[in-house]
Amino acid sequence: MITTDTIIKDPNPLLRQKSEKIELPLSQEDQQLVDSLYEYVVNSTNPELAQKYNLQPAVGIAAPQIGVLKQACAIVIYDYDDEGEITNTTQFVLINPVILSKSAKLAALSEGEGCLSIKEPYPGYVYRSHKIKVRAYDALTKENITIDATGYLAIVMQHEIDHLNGILFYDHISKTEPDYINPKAIII
Ligand SMILES: [Zn+2]
Repeated sequence: MITTDTIIKDPNPLLRQKSEKIELPLSQEDQQLVDSLYEYVVNSTNPELAQKYNLQPAVGIAAPQIGVLKQACAIVIYDYDDEGEITNTTQFVLINPVILSKSAKLAALSEGEGCLSIKEPYPGYVYRSHKIKVRAYDALTKENITIDATGYLAIVMQHEIDHLNGILFYDHISKTEPDYINPKAIII
């Protein structure tokens, strides 16, 4: 089981490696890998389970973060109503994801980004494409899919796919002017 303690942390050099493609259909070992990634993200946002098993809440995790250099990542994003009830779930377990296209328009999160593998905060805007088109095998639906992602989902996907290429979010933050407001971007 993945816990906060078994997630590897920057500057572990494994986080800077490129991950390898996964062969399909999934081997038993790879199925277990993707199941554990998905389980972590789902359980991490359940306050009781998160406390019981020591899980830092997350919307995504990628295989390199547990030291496995394979192209897999899990994403689970909930929408909530005013009472805190879940109204919608957007979830994928992406295998071998490829970004087919990216918009010129950029987006960044107003709060900046965080990462399970990075302990210290790195304040600053992380500019990414506002819209992306991604092709992947989705281990949840067991189908090849093409996703048109916009806004928050597009940002999360780019963060996770970066992990498969050895890129961490602070690589995108301006060293000289981290609070620079890019006029081509929307802040969400
Ligand atoms: Zn991360």
